[in-house]
Amino acid sequence: MTTVAAARRTASSTSSKGVAWARYGSRGLHVALLQKKLNERGARLAVDGIFGQKTLAAVKRYQQQRGLAVDGVVGPKTWGSLGVQASSNGGRVGGTSPSSPAPSGPGTRTTGYINGRPQSITVSPIGNGKYLRSDAAAAFNRMKADAARAGVNLSAVSGFRTMAEQTYLYNLYKSGRGNLAARPGYSNHQGGIAVDVSTGGSYSSSAYRWLAANGRRYGFVNDVRGEPWHWTYRG
Ligand SMILES: [Zn+2]
Repeated sequence: MTTVAAARRTASSTSSKGVAWARYGSRGLHVALLQKKLNERGARLAVDGIFGQKTLAAVKRYQQQRGLAVDGVVGPKTWGSLGVQASSNGGRVGGTSPSSPAPSGPGTRTTGYINGRPQSITVSPIGNGKYLRSDAAAAFNRMKADAARAGVNLSAVSGFRTMAEQTYLYNLYKSGRGNLAARPGYSNHQGGIAVDVSTGGSYSSSAYRWLAANGRRYGFVNDVRGEPWHWTYRG
């Protein structure tokens, strides 16, 4: 069953521990982390997870000040000088997925949106390079471990989303190419409390059935009709 491609994927995912590289056009949590780190060093960037012109200018300025190659690309040297371990293989660059592994520690501060209003939240990893608000992440990880003991795999396919990611998904939905996605600013994914679990889209999947029976004990409810995968943490 183990194909060469699968083996290579496994190898690269284990060797890519660390934050993805970032460059002009990159989006995601790793870019938000970059913006936060640059702000701690005097930049004044919006922490929106979008690597645009202003972030590029701030990166180049920082690289120049530190005597790094001024290429605007945040790879191992630039990440390292910001105190963050970069992935050895570059990670995903320029993608729209919030897939950068989190730095270790109590959580990463970022901007979430609740009912259209920005709010500072702390997110923590829940596996698969996904995140939830830290209290929801702790509940999810506990739930996932208990489900695993019952032989059920709760695999997160989406968790916390930055404004950039929600906007991307909303535009896909509007153009008829994506799943239903809430208006940017109004998704529980942006508050870090909604997680999409791999269910194959089926109410008869083992993941859905286990969650329907047990999710509430951990604070998770299935609150979007027609979406067996979407679970919201209500505490
Ligand atoms: Zn969802």
